[in-house]
Amino acid sequence: MRATEVLKLSIVLAHTRLSGSLFQSELVLTKNDSLYWSDLIDFKNDCINVHCVNKVKDVCSTSTLRILDFNCKNILICGPLFKELERKIDIFLLQEHWLYDCQLNILQELHNDFTGTGKAVDSNDPIQPSHMPRGYGGVAILWKKNLDKLVTTLPIGNDRIQCIELSGNQKLLFISIYLPCKSSDNHLNKLYECIDQLHEIMEVYKATHQIIIGGDFNDNKFLMKITLIEKDIYLTLSEIHVKAINLFGNISRAKCDSIEWRLAERQLQIKPHNSHSWFIEIKEICLKYGITDLYDYLNSPLSKLQWKKLVKSKIYAYWTSKIIDKSKGYSTLKFMDHKYNTGTVHPLAISVRANLKDIRKIPVRLKIATGNYILQTHKASFSKRHISSICKLCSKTNETVEHFILLCEKLEETKKPLMSKILNNGSLILAKYTTSRLADLLQLIINPFCYVDFDVNRTAFEETSNILEPLCRQLLYNLNNKRYMLY
Ligand SMILES: [Zn+2]
Repeated sequence: MRATEVLKLSIVLAHTRLSGSLFQSELVLTKNDSLYWSDLIDFKNDCINVHCVNKVKDVCSTSTLRILDFNCKNILICGPLFKELERKIDIFLLQEHWLYDCQLNILQELHNDFTGTGKAVDSNDPIQPSHMPRGYGGVAILWKKNLDKLVTTLPIGNDRIQCIELSGNQKLLFISIYLPCKSSDNHLNKLYECIDQLHEIMEVYKATHQIIIGGDFNDNKFLMKITLIEKDIYLTLSEIHVKAINLFGNISRAKCDSIEWRLAERQLQIKPHNSHSWFIEIKEICLKYGITDLYDYLNSPLSKLQWKKLVKSKIYAYWTSKIIDKSKGYSTLKFMDHKYNTGTVHPLAISVRANLKDIRKIPVRLKIATGNYILQTHKASFSKRHISSICKLCSKTNETVEHFILLCEKLEETKKPLMSKILNNGSLILAKYTTSRLADLLQLIINPFCYVDFDVNRTAFEETSNILEPLCRQLLYNLNNKRYMLY
């Protein structure tokens, strides 16, 4: 899937935070305006703002689907709220319902018109009803009963992610997510696990579904975006910046007596850098990308094309170097070649044949390539050696990535047929096109693109994409399946 297609994703991130009796909502990102637009409805003395995603056509009898996302902090006390919102909301994306696994059926009985599904903090290992302490955490999604025929609960994601699918001409995927808060134990590991899962889900569904994510991001939003960008999903800060800076470009080309132009001139001159003026924010954003002297551009504006070119080159240069710098600091990324090109997707994440069956293999292969595939050796080091690092399949030695892919005898049969094809095709491509550089088999399987450079030899690159990479991807996919089967 190419970057342009990724950019066409419709992802709506919405979040409403409860503070005292006040809801404040914030829509982070809306794409693909033709399908969605966001709206703020204020009611009850301006106390509650509700984010709505309107006009999802052909999905239900009404043309409008109204969605509210909020952290309910104990769903059992929210009865009056649901009563009040019963005519105004079709789908609730909820966090912190505080129910345990054995209480989840309450979600179906909260309100006559609504039903729902959810996960609890103990869903993986349910506690006995007689031992329930005060509740905490959990995620859920409630929907109007008249949508019931269209809704499928999806058994994906961990206990912090609840997904449902709504069928119709345009399939919709709703995700309610509750990210760990910064003060919690093991915050980063839990956070990365959630982001990994979110990423995986999006990889599988983005081609076929419109995705709506609501959640309590617990101040991790920025980290989440950056991580997703690193994972080649352009959910982007940079794209928002491009839009904002281009808007300034439009203003700079407006007539000098237009209100916008005069406002820009005045604010850029007099407002201090810490003011909340939109123009000063743009100035700061531009500075970050090395675009200085906005005031000068106002007086001698560039043409639309020149401005766009400038913005694109500056922003791409910034993110490319940032991602490369960052990636060098991660030992887990040693199999990646530190070659990134902002605006294009890494070839490992592109499927030549864009069918769903093929696309499903990408997440496993990306996890292995980026060091995010969890083997016993990782578990051992995360758990400070409480968990054994020995391979659970053969029980003979440490389960390292090398052992898993090349050496484990229990996986021998699985890898045999593909391994010989990889060796044949790999050595053929390398012999034909590359210089004397010695190839490492493990590196070749995990990221064959490190041996071929698109700019140097296009044929080699294409043969790698079309022949070698699908074999490697299939091998890793098969190994992963076999490993889980034997577990
Ligand atoms: Zn083994």
